[in-house]
Amino acid sequence: MSLIVTGTIGIDSVRTPHQQRDNVLGGSCTYFAAGASFHGPVRVVAAVGDDFPNQFRDALGRYPGIDLAGLEVRAGAKTFRWGGRYAQNMNSRETLFTELGVLTEAPPAIPPPFRDSRYVFLANTHPSVQLQLLEQLPRRTMAVADTMDLWIRTARADLTRLLSRTDGLVLNYDEAELLTGKANAIAAARSILGTGPTFVIVKKGEHGSVLVHREGLGAMPAYPTENVVDPTGAGDCFAGGLMGYIAATAAHDNSARSWSFQTIRAALAHGTVISSFVIESFGLDRLASLTSEELSERQAEFASMLRF
Ligand code: AMP
Repeated sequence: MSLIVTGTIGIDSVRTPHQQRDNVLGGSCTYFAAGASFHGPVRVVAAVGDDFPNQFRDALGRYPGIDLAGLEVRAGAKTFRWGGRYAQNMNSRETLFTELGVLTEAPPAIPPPFRDSRYVFLANTHPSVQLQLLEQLPRRTMAVADTMDLWIRTARADLTRLLSRTDGLVLNYDEAELLTGKANAIAAARSILGTGPTFVIVKKGEHGSVLVHREGLGAMPAYPTENVVDPTGAGDCFAGGLMGYIAATAAHDNSARSWSFQTIRAALAHGTVISSFVIESFGLDRLASLTSEELSERQAEFASMLRF
């Protein structure tokens, strides 16, 4: 089943308590696509400026599942840049800068062969861009969005309109609280369900995630790991594993069940496992070397941890 993602492809500068890396390939779309590509093909729609390094494009192009036909390199524009710093516990982070660059211009065009996409993920970008892209995908079966503090603070009206058009929302605990004013993740998710989506997934970093779905409640721990080098992109990669699994399941099954509670609950486990790899390195380095055997092995290990 065709999976499409739109969001940012950018250049990150990341500081952890142990290391600093500047000019790393990043962006919400990047991490999503890499995570999803382990389940099947993923179509990418994003714009970068002409300062986007060729080796970053090549790095994305090396994932067999990633289709870059919708990656627009815009002459005279600047690529999105983001800088962040992690606290000692690696769980909380602050944004040091956000340079929107090309994001302030017209959204990228969806190539005609991508317009029949059925599974849509609107990774983090301006909600008005997410809305405009959604409207160009009339054959969608399921649309899921992500958002973050910047957009909740600066574009709430667009975000509210977006939520009324989406089937699912994935967001961090702090963002759920900021959006709803409710400090309890379940209460916050329930109030978001009242605005449109069928399910809401609240990510809680090393404490895993909760699923609030019209059919029930679910929870997934994080994969327990000691090896956290750079948590950047974990949330997007989680969403990639989740949506990649859902789209792949629908391809083998009846797509009407693609957003059932059971399917999404299983998808949470796949998102959790792929995101446990991305944090083992800066940028996409660990995913670039990840084999399907290593992925299956950790999936089986995680499944056995969850049985009692
Ligand atoms: P995550 O750690 O999963 O929240 O994703 C981090 C990635 O999101 C980084 O690679 C950033 O380039 C990108 N990012 C940071 N801020 C924004 C924003 N406001 N909109 C879209 N993408 C962003």
